[in-house]
Amino acid sequence: MKIICIGRNYADHIAELHNEVPTAPVIFLKPETALLQRGQPFFIPEFSKSIHHELELVLRVCKNGRHIEEPFAHTYFDAIGLGIDFTARDLQSELRTKGLPWELAKAFDGSAPISPTFKPVADFADLANINFHLEVNGETRQTGNSGLMLHPFAKIISFVSKYISLKQGDLIFTGTPAGVAAVKMGDQLTGYLEGEKLLELAVK
Ligand code: MG
Repeated sequence: MKIICIGRNYADHIAELHNEVPTAPVIFLKPETALLQRGQPFFIPEFSKSIHHELELVLRVCKNGRHIEEPFAHTYFDAIGLGIDFTARDLQSELRTKGLPWELAKAFDGSAPISPTFKPVADFADLANINFHLEVNGETRQTGNSGLMLHPFAKIISFVSKYISLKQGDLIFTGTPAGVAAVKMGDQLTGYLEGEKLLELAVK
């Protein structure tokens, strides 16, 4: 399986990092080794002094496909969960300055914790109005709604599948809203999907 991630998909997050609004989705990948086992803590790696949390809605791909047209995109994912796209921001800035790819800053071990459970798509009344938020030590830090995505789910799936075939079991991280910040040892991260606690993670 692979993890496909969308960057710069919320205007408020683009503004906080002073990035340009992209016309097409910005895409990068994380390997399977980025996943964290259920209940495992996240250990801050020694190569970064600034690991940022990015809470994101994550789609679970349920069938193989390529060149998927937008009207059929919704049939290619069957569940939505939460994930954290951990980012070594200091390393990413360095790579961006040099015009280099982001993998070292985005794809390292443990950089993609996901919620142990995903909610079936059928449980959502409106896919364009899904609320999610992240608490750090009980304090709300990030609040998002899928209606604010620059590129909605169908667009993402259609765009990605023109270049990269989707396979059953793949995960798609759909971008983070504003509020990203560095984590520190001892932090407790809690992600909520439509008010339901879905993801709990200790930072060590
Ligand atoms: Mg992200």
